[in-house]
Amino acid sequence: MIARVSLEIALRKEFDYSIPPALADKIDVGSRVQVPFGPRKILGVVTAVAEESGQTNLKPIVKVIGAQTLVTPKVLKLARWIGEYYCCAPEIALKAVLPEAVRSEAAAWRERLYVRVLPANREFPKLPKRQQEIWNLIEERREILLAELVALAETTAATVRKLEDRGLIEIAAEISERDPHARETILATQPLALNPAQAGALEKIKAAMGGTGVTPVVSGVAPETGVGASVGTGKITSDKTHPDPDLARRQIPQARGLFHPRTFLLHGVTGSGKTEIYLQAIAHALEQGKGAIVLVPEISLTPQTVERFKARFSSGKLQTLVAVLHSHLSAGERHDEWHKIRQGRARIVIGARSAIFAPVEPLGLIIVDEEHEHTYKQEEAPRYHARDVAVMRGQMENAVVVLGSATPSLESFYNCKRCKFTLLELPQRVDDKKMPHVRVVDMRQTKRDGKAPPIFSPQLKEAITQHLERKEQTILFLNRRGYSSSLVCEKCGHVCGCPNCSLALTYHRAEQLLRCHFCGYTELVPQVCPNEKCKNPGIRYSGLGTQKVEDVLGKLFPHARIRRMDADVMKRKNDYREVLGDFRHGKIDILIGTQMIAKGLHFPNVTLVGIIYADLALHQPDFRAGERTFQLLTQVAGRAGRGDVEGEVFVQAFTPFHPAIQYARRHDFVGFYEQEMEFREQLKYPPASRVALLTLKGRNEDKVKFSAEHVRREIEKLTKMESAAPGQTADGAQGVTRPASFKDLIISGPAPAPLLRAESFYRFQIMLRTRAMSALSRELATMVEPLALPEDVMLTVDIDPVDLS
Ligand code: ADP
Ligand code: ZN
Repeated sequence: MIARVSLEIALRKEFDYSIPPALADKIDVGSRVQVPFGPRKILGVVTAVAEESGQTNLKPIVKVIGAQTLVTPKVLKLARWIGEYYCCAPEIALKAVLPEAVRSEAAAWRERLYVRVLPANREFPKLPKRQQEIWNLIEERREILLAELVALAETTAATVRKLEDRGLIEIAAEISERDPHARETILATQPLALNPAQAGALEKIKAAMGGTGVTPVVSGVAPETGVGASVGTGKITSDKTHPDPDLARRQIPQARGLFHPRTFLLHGVTGSGKTEIYLQAIAHALEQGKGAIVLVPEISLTPQTVERFKARFSSGKLQTLVAVLHSHLSAGERHDEWHKIRQGRARIVIGARSAIFAPVEPLGLIIVDEEHEHTYKQEEAPRYHARDVAVMRGQMENAVVVLGSATPSLESFYNCKRCKFTLLELPQRVDDKKMPHVRVVDMRQTKRDGKAPPIFSPQLKEAITQHLERKEQTILFLNRRGYSSSLVCEKCGHVCGCPNCSLALTYHRAEQLLRCHFCGYTELVPQVCPNEKCKNPGIRYSGLGTQKVEDVLGKLFPHARIRRMDADVMKRKNDYREVLGDFRHGKIDILIGTQMIAKGLHFPNVTLVGIIYADLALHQPDFRAGERTFQLLTQVAGRAGRGDVEGEVFVQAFTPFHPAIQYARRHDFVGFYEQEMEFREQLKYPPASRVALLTLKGRNEDKVKFSAEHVRREIEKLTKMESAAPGQTADGAQGVTRPASFKDLIISGPAPAPLLRAESFYRFQIMLRTRAMSALSRELATMVEPLALPEDVMLTVDIDPVDLS
């Protein structure tokens, strides 16, 4: 027998090896193996097993790693899709699906030596004094870790072994699991009685999972739901003007009520009880003998969150282990958690991005909480988006996918409109708690002659004073991301933007230039505000950090207990937990923070939220700037009034009438979606199309620039290729691939990205926009590979990028 092996070094090629008879019954598709490669021995994954090979002189596999196949065939298939769609070598994709701690040769269960008393079958011998003392300790405990005993008795293992020689004790190795949460005791919780909105949503999810629901589900014929799935057509243009035959076909059965897409978008305002729905849907999966994966953004993977899941499934007939996968685990802990899943002992997995690859089998349900979060996108190869992978995996394994958010991504909402996802809505907070009242403060009014605007408007200052007096808590939020590099007029709020791309221009201090990263447009830094009605000479680039906010606040409110929480001060693992603990226990009056505090926290005594410069995030040279601002404002505002007292939110902004701010003020997601989509449609930004971002980077500016121009020419050649088959109708649902014509392709750039000072690399970017991304990415992969670039110029391809900087 021979095995085909994908090696860990990226060669975009698989190699055949013979399976030695001794290993025959240990090797299967998915096994991790060590094989000879030239003079070296390297690791790889078996992707196929066959009788014979086209190659001759096969070398034998050296050894198998781990007792079980590590990559299941289903996950292997998923990895292949990732390699294809995200334009990376399959080896790299395969590497991503197994955690390092599981992949490495050294990975193993930790074995520990236990000392145990043996039953006495003869007269107890007379022991030397020292041995007698040790025996007493062992006898008292009956069983003790050897290491612990040695420490306790201040002795050596050799001395303990003497007791073993006498037949009094045994010393045996046993696996001891590293459970990161071993010391916690968790009280079990029972399912809550759902309110009607929750019940309606759960009913639909359960129906899609099969079982108790009323809606008939045609399984296996569900329409293609993948966000990143191979829609495989370059034909879809605008919805309005060209009805997409593919879409129409998909809509019909749905209109007839034959089936609903089995990917759900659960749009529920903060505190509307989404998590309770997740818990009950998971219970349903367990009842069906299936498992579930819950993805949460790393930042909200707090003990609080994990506990809610553990508590529900810690007892009763559905009892199962809940495995947790996140970046703070030690390699050993991660290894053990992963294997608990692989062995089927843990049927629920909760984790950040990479938990989407957890070997849950069979898989019934995938939940992606806060699905709009950008941390689901991996910023190194393979540059996959865990939400999109989740949708794809759900489709491949016939699992139901639930994406949840208070502020869905435009992509997901668009997929609902196109009947790829089923929309579920929870419009109210549980118990009808009111949404907080949001006031927008016009910071242009606070401008003092010749000086920078104050950090705190009189309105916010007054509100803080009142809330301090009432002994209620305040959160102040500063969006630091906003301080990248754009030029904003402090008087009228004008932002210097690109006339071609509608994106904020980037300020290049050294050259005194404003530049658009995507089309390369440049202009000189203006001396006065370009807004005709303003012409303020004070236009400038200024910075503000949480530190400064803290200092000013300390002077204004000397008696308040103030704490700051941002990446600078939260260095240690426990800092975050500690500050939140103090805040929860009322030891802090005002908490200042960045993105870190925007998410998912629940503090009943917080009644005031202040957002310092709300529109800073609008000035990013990124077409999602408005969407991000909307999401952030909505999420931050959601922190107020979670308890019995109604919450109040102050939003300080220089552009108070910007739609992102106004719609957030009214908690109006759909309104925001509709107006934002007009802009996206017009400029063909996602979700009206898909983007691929090609970045070239190197230390020599001219070389990078030249290479980028070369790449652009190659892309032009590639995409002018005429499509072959005539009459190619869009029937991507059957996964038919065909040569695509890229009629709608827009190529922008190359243009310089802002200099990455820290690494002193020059970067040039090319942005591609098309609806036919799966076709394009396949073409790109074949193009990029043989491309002759200078050795010191690196090219990365990012499909569906989230970070455009
Ligand atoms: P979300 O995930 O949408 O922010 P949660 O599921 O965290 O909302 O619910 C917010 C709070 O309301 C939680 O304390 C939760 O226990 C409670 N809750 C959720 N559903 C119900 C219900 N049906 N009845 C009573 N309380 C509920
Ligand atoms: Zn431009």
